[in-house]
Amino acid sequence: MYKFSKKSQTQLETCHKDIQLICSEAIKIIDIKVTEGARSQKRQIELFKKGRSKLDGVTKFSKHQVTKEKLLSSAIDILPCPVDWGDKKRFFFVAGIMKGITLRLLEEGRITHALRWGGDWNSNNNFEDQTFNDLPHFELIEYNEPMIIKKNKDMQKDKKKKPSLGILGLIGTAITAPIPHAILVKVFVKILKILAKSSKNKIDDKIVAGIEKVL
Ligand SMILES: [Zn+2]
Repeated sequence: MYKFSKKSQTQLETCHKDIQLICSEAIKIIDIKVTEGARSQKRQIELFKKGRSKLDGVTKFSKHQVTKEKLLSSAIDILPCPVDWGDKKRFFFVAGIMKGITLRLLEEGRITHALRWGGDWNSNNNFEDQTFNDLPHFELIEYNEPMIIKKNKDMQKDKKKKPSLGILGLIGTAITAPIPHAILVKVFVKILKILAKSSKNKIDDKIVAGIEKVL
């Protein structure tokens, strides 16, 4: 398992908790470094002037920008390690991992935002319709498809509602399951013994012993 450097960790901690969680899962899979989390307005204006960002920081804010009201960054810049800007494939690989983790965490209800990647701004999985590539960049967006979370909650509810199999169900499962005969017999006898012990069922030890012999 890989580990974030101190520098990366410091930057990561300037980001929204959803980003922190996604990245802490990603580092288990791939070696990455965080180059930037939170950004001041001053730095955003500088980047805009250098042409490294499309957002001027005044009329159009970057998701990296933090203010007194917004203390954490909603964006993060990540590089695959070792860093090789010429090797674009690895950026796509990182993005795939980040997207996959985001989907899983959403399904688990552990985060509340979706993730947009600077290599696919409209998130249509088509990388040819980009006007501006920012491959290290990921940002949080509103999650407008609560279906997955809802589905997950419903499934949990369904689990609770599901009636217990009951003794007959257990016997049926034992018969139909691909279990060796000897184990099946043991399970059967155990069930019968439990039934025998129960005051509600009039099966005594002698009957159990008889069935055990037959089996
Ligand atoms: Zn960025």
